[in-house]
Amino acid sequence: MTGLLLGAHMSIAGGVSQALDRAASVGSNAVQVFTKNNRQWAGPPIDEQDIERWRTKMPALGIVYAVSHASYLINLGSPNDALWEKSRIAHQDEIRRAHAYAIPHVVLHPGAHTGSGATTAIDRIAGALNRIHAETPEYGDTITCLEIMAGQGTVLGRNLEQLRAIIDGIEDKERVGVCLDTCHAFAAGYDIRSQAGYAGFMAEVDRWLGLEAVKVWHFNDSKGALGSHVDRHTHIGEGEIGVEGFRHILNDPRWAGIAMLLETPKEDTLEEDAMNLARLCTLVEDPARIPPGLRAPA
Ligand SMILES: [Zn+2]
Ligand SMILES: [Zn+2]
Repeated sequence: MTGLLLGAHMSIAGGVSQALDRAASVGSNAVQVFTKNNRQWAGPPIDEQDIERWRTKMPALGIVYAVSHASYLINLGSPNDALWEKSRIAHQDEIRRAHAYAIPHVVLHPGAHTGSGATTAIDRIAGALNRIHAETPEYGDTITCLEIMAGQGTVLGRNLEQLRAIIDGIEDKERVGVCLDTCHAFAAGYDIRSQAGYAGFMAEVDRWLGLEAVKVWHFNDSKGALGSHVDRHTHIGEGEIGVEGFRHILNDPRWAGIAMLLETPKEDTLEEDAMNLARLCTLVEDPARIPPGLRAPA
C-alpha cells in the first residue's frame, strides 16, 4: 500500500512558491494553495520567476502533490448574467494559473442558486464549465474538482446527487472530478464516524460518482452537528466527527495516491497544522505509510 499524501492549505504570502516552504516546515508532502488572492476577482500577472522557484522547490522539499482552490467569489450557478460571466472568466483564469504551476487539480465550490432553484443553477454551472473547456483545450490536463458542500442556504453540491447532476451536464468528463471535504460531508448529513457509516458513505460515493472521481480530500473536523448544514471547520478530534472518522479514511487502501489536506484554523506559526498532522499520523496503522517528514525519529 503506497504512502500517504498529507498536508494543509498554506498561505502564499511572499509568492505562491512560499507555500511549499511552509508545507515542508511542518513535515508534510502535499499542499493546497490559492494561486492568487482568493477574495479578489483579478490576480496579478503570472510570475514566471515564481513558477521557476516552484518547479525546483517541489522536488527539493519533498512535496509530491499540490492542488489549488479557486476564489470564494466565483458563483457559476448565479442567475445574474453579469456575475455568471465574471465568475466564468475568473474560473478560467484559475485554471490558467494552476496549469502554469503544473497543478493538476483546482477545487471549486459549485455555486449557489440564490433563489433561482437548484435545477436552473446546475445547468448554469455545467454550461460555464463546458464553455471554459471548449475555449481552453490547452489546459485539458487541469481538472476542476467540485467540492461537496455543507449545504448552507442556497449552496449547491449539498449532496452527492447534486454533484452527479452537475457532472451529467459536462461534456468533457475528463476535465471534472470531486473534492470530498469531511466537515462539509458530515454537515450535509453523511455520518462517517462509525466504520459502517463510513462504508455506507463510500458506497454512495461509488454509486453516484464512482470512487475514481474523487481527486482530493479536505480533512476538517466539524463544529456543526451531523446534517446541520453548518460549515465550520475545527481541529481533528475536537469536533463532532472525532478521530475515528479520519482513521477510516486514512487506513482505506482505496485512497492511496489521493491527498488529504487540512483546512483547519491556525496562526502564522503553523503550530496547529503540526498538531493536527501529528494527530492524523497516530491513526495510521502502517507507520511506513506516514510521510517521511512526519515520522517519529527512530
Ligand atoms: Zn472549499
Ligand atoms: Zn474544503
